[in-house]
Amino acid sequence: MIKYELKCRKDHVFEAWFYDSATYDKQAAGGKIVCPVCNSRKITKAPMAPRIGKSKGEVAAAEAKEVAVAMKALRELRDHVEKNADYVGDQFAEEARKIH
Ligand SMILES: [Zn+2]
Repeated sequence: MIKYELKCRKDHVFEAWFYDSATYDKQAAGGKIVCPVCNSRKITKAPMAPRIGKSKGEVAAAEAKEVAVAMKALRELRDHVEKNADYVGDQFAEEARKIH
């Protein structure tokens, strides 16, 4: 699927999905694409590359989520190490007392 930004002769810009670019060409040539604002059939592609799949915003959001998960894992690891370090420390103090 390809999403095109389309523009009618009155400069209304709208988006439409097509199976592929050939489908767009066929529908545009046959006057099958209609502006949702003014019902004009004089449609051209807006000067913009078709966007396929994820947008930049979606990719950035997914990356931010991965960072958040990694940060959480680091915090949990640090908490774990601190707890164990305290435990070992108490034990060490007790061992030291026994020796004395
Ligand atoms: Zn229009």
